[in-house]
Amino acid sequence: MFNRRGLLLAGGAIALSAGLARAQSARLFVVATFTILADLVRQVGGEGVEVSSLVGPNGDVHAYAPSPADSRKLAAARLIVENGLNLEGWISRLAKASASKARIVVASAGVSPREEHGDHDHAHGGTDPHAWQNVANAKIYVANIRDGLIAANPSGKAEYAARARAYLEKLDALDAYVRAAVAKIPADRRRIVTTHDAFGYFGQAYGIELAAPAGVSTEAAVSARDVGKIIAQIKKDKFPAVFLENVSDPRLIDQIARETGAKIGGTLYSDSLSGPDGAAGTYIDMVRHNISELTKALA
Ligand code: ZN
Repeated sequence: MFNRRGLLLAGGAIALSAGLARAQSARLFVVATFTILADLVRQVGGEGVEVSSLVGPNGDVHAYAPSPADSRKLAAARLIVENGLNLEGWISRLAKASASKARIVVASAGVSPREEHGDHDHAHGGTDPHAWQNVANAKIYVANIRDGLIAANPSGKAEYAARARAYLEKLDALDAYVRAAVAKIPADRRRIVTTHDAFGYFGQAYGIELAAPAGVSTEAAVSARDVGKIIAQIKKDKFPAVFLENVSDPRLIDQIARETGAKIGGTLYSDSLSGPDGAAGTYIDMVRHNISELTKALA
């Protein structure tokens, strides 16, 4: 890429493209599929790493339609970080089409996958991809990202290792913070409803019971029967609150709240961070925001 663009410049075209800037820069160019992974890469990689997320802030990674610009980003990347667990069904084809030579890190490699137990009308993969919602799993992501960065740029090894160590300590503190917050919620109120089943790992790790009309992906339409079952369950089990998600249409939760009398407990960030000035600009801020919303509604 550098040579071809270099020739274009020699030919008189003064077009200093992002690709050339990257090729000349000493920074390692990393592409992550969505914002949560991009933040983890930034935390571990530091200033020497330039990170781009394919799906933007508040975007839906399940139903994402990649653009030609995404393909060019992959071609310029030296490292690609994806979640795995069938979250980004679109990434393998895109990476292949881009002829990217980048090393690929599957951030979730090594986590224990959660199988979806829900009884939804629509069939889908069954494996829950939202492993990052358990902070212990995020630590596995960080270790995989650290190892990927070192493999892509061995000269950065000491820095990546030191930054990962410091960040893993922050995640330990975060995990303890979530546990302490959940402990203050009365046991019979540890029940929430969200639009899609994105908090299964969270619920499993921290003892919160969950229900969602949509399954582990946002791609399939939610049937009236699924919604009816959730409404019956909320009434029977007395779920205190239902929550909107930053990546899902709010209308379904509005309807459920109306028909059950459950209150709307705010917006949870499930599959995507906010922009840098929003409530969940980093992974740690996202987890803290979510537990704060849960505490406000349930405790
Ligand atoms: Zn999701």
